[in-house]
Amino acid sequence: MPIFVVQRHDASRLHFDLRLEIDGVLVSWAVPKGPSLDPRDKRLAVFTEDHSLDYAGFEGSIGGAYGAGTVIVWDTGGFENVTTRQGGPVGAGAALADGHLRFLLHGRRLSGGFALTRTNMSGDDRNWILVKIDDEGADRRRSPATTELTSVLSGRTNQDFEQR
Ligand code: MN
Repeated sequence: MPIFVVQRHDASRLHFDLRLEIDGVLVSWAVPKGPSLDPRDKRLAVFTEDHSLDYAGFEGSIGGAYGAGTVIVWDTGGFENVTTRQGGPVGAGAALADGHLRFLLHGRRLSGGFALTRTNMSGDDRNWILVKIDDEGADRRRSPATTELTSVLSGRTNQDFEQR
C-alpha cells in the first residue's frame, strides 16, 4: 500500500505538510491549521512541491529562507486512493489532475476517509480544501493537530530539534 505522512513543520509559520505517495513521489500540501477530524471543518491545503519518498521519515532542523525551522513526523501510515467518477474508480494521478481526490488514511492519529478538492480561492489554483469524510474515523471532540505535539516515530517534539 502507498504511504502518507504528515510532518509538523514549525517554520516562520507553523503548518502541517500532508504528503501522499502517488506515482512514486510524495505529492504535498501545506495545511496551516493541520488536518481536522471534524467533517464540518474545511481546511486550506496549499499545493506545494513534490518530495522524494525518502523524505517521509525525515525529522530535524532545516535551513532555507521560507522553510527554515524544525520538522517532525506527526503521523504516517498507509494511504488508499478511493476516488470514483460516475461509479468507476479513478487512479490517484488522474484524480490529482482532475482536482479531486478521495482517500483513506491508516495512521495513528488520522484514520478513515478524507477528500482534497482544488479550488480557485483568491484566484490561485494551488489552494485546495481538505475535509474529513463523516465515518468511524471522524471525531468532533478531538483536535489532534492542536493537542498532539510529538512525533509518532520518535516521541520527540519540534522543540527538541531546535538548534541552540
Ligand atoms: Mn513545510
